Amino acid sequence: MTLVDLTPRSVRTARLTTLPVMVIGAGPIGLAAAANLLERGIDFTVLEAGEQAGSSIRLWGHTRLFSPWRHLVDPVSRRLLEASGWMTPDDEGRAPTGEQLVDDYLTPLAELDEIRAHVRYGTRVVAVSRDGMDRTRTAGRETTPFLVRVQTSDGRFEELTARAVIDASGTYATPNPLSSSGLDPIGVSDVADVVVHALPNVLGADRERFAQKHTTVVGAGHSAANTLIALAELARAEPGTRVTWLIRNPSAIRVSSSADDELADRARLGSRVDQLVDSGAIAKIDSFEIARISRHGAGLRLVGTHHGEPSAHDSDLVVNATGFRPDLSMLREIRLSLDETVEAPTRLAPLIDPNVHSCGTVSPHGFAELQHPEPGFFIVGMKSYGRAPTFLLATGYEQVRSIVAWLDGDMHSASEVQLRLPATGVCSTTLDGGSCCG
Ligand SMILES: Cc1cc2nc3c(=O)[nH]c(=O)nc-3n(C[C@H](O)[C@H](O)[C@H](O)COP(=O)(O)OP(=O)(O)OC[C@H]3O[C@@H](n4cnc5c(N)ncnc54)[C@H](O)[C@@H]3O)c2cc1C
Repeated sequence: MTLVDLTPRSVRTARLTTLPVMVIGAGPIGLAAAANLLERGIDFTVLEAGEQAGSSIRLWGHTRLFSPWRHLVDPVSRRLLEASGWMTPDDEGRAPTGEQLVDDYLTPLAELDEIRAHVRYGTRVVAVSRDGMDRTRTAGRETTPFLVRVQTSDGRFEELTARAVIDASGTYATPNPLSSSGLDPIGVSDVADVVVHALPNVLGADRERFAQKHTTVVGAGHSAANTLIALAELARAEPGTRVTWLIRNPSAIRVSSSADDELADRARLGSRVDQLVDSGAIAKIDSFEIARISRHGAGLRLVGTHHGEPSAHDSDLVVNATGFRPDLSMLREIRLSLDETVEAPTRLAPLIDPNVHSCGTVSPHGFAELQHPEPGFFIVGMKSYGRAPTFLLATGYEQVRSIVAWLDGDMHSASEVQLRLPATGVCSTTLDGGSCCG
């Protein structure tokens, strides 16, 4: 016998809207979503895996961003913060480091009484579904609450219900594999101790690990550039330290600077790497496709092709700066519509295609481009760009403003997307290795 809910649709919808909106992640975009929800009086809960706001950014906190403060603060959050006496940190100065972004902006925002009461830290979302409905069931789906399964830091599982879900969980925890095939190279688990996540703190906490070692940085983006510059500085102070930069394309246009780059810090990053390569401080290997990894002495060997010929490259350590990809495993029961190439929402993908667009040429977009066949479910922020490396915070702030207006039934505001991004000539290039904007 099939049980059918005979409650009228309007009553089921009304019940649904008594539930909170779940926001996954207390990074800059998750917290901006919270600020918008707060301003519109919509109940919400932010679920954050880490123990504090901006937990992913803390992991690369020693790294300087390239945008100045004026591009980094969400307008709605700014209003809430200023009402509590907060002032934008030095708007005319240099871009902040990740740590400064967290300490001077995200933490005060998350600590506002009206937001703090709605954030659960140490709470990792492990799955999202509809209450009692796997993805194959259609009848009554849009009036059925979302079910969000979480695991708390003490290992317990809980299930929460929600009227809508905004997934702002970023991509930092899921780097692209080193292999050109996009698969984890066979053997990678045997060398896990010498393969390092992007953006290690080479001149700080991780200094001893890299001093007097030969490190190969794999990837063509700004994360790679940051690490290469730090390693070259370490090599000057610690004789015996060697640096190799390995990329799979013939050139790494993404880290090269351009005269029309409005984000001057990023342009400087690219030209600094060019100089270090020219001076011989960094050895560069281009057109190297990694197929396998194996242990070699205390270090490792990258095996693949160099300019199409079989080749191997040895070093003590490898830094994987090949970029990031979204973790879609927790969304298995959600009806998603994703572009088959970049894994961004289908209607957003052509607007952000890194083969065509740089960080600064992305068209304004909001709830309409971010919708999925699952009403009330949205992927926003860095994760909404899938594998495209061109995300900027200003874009994400506009995404969540539009989505929250839509949740509030304010179609006029939801549809009126506005965005002014800094012009940049740096990153209109391919998906290959590393975040252009990061
Ligand atoms: C080095 C670097 C420099 C950058 N510089 C700039 C810049 O200058 N300007 C700019 O506009 N952009 C910049 N970016 C790009 C982008 O703005 C940042 O990556 C930004 O942190 C993205 O924000 P987010 O909120 O989407 O994701 P994140 O900051 O990654 O936040 C996601 C949050 O979700 C949490 N989380 C993850 N999984 C789960 C889960 N399953 N359950 C619960 N919580 C979870 C994480 O702990 C984290 O706190 C930079 C990126 C990098 C890496």
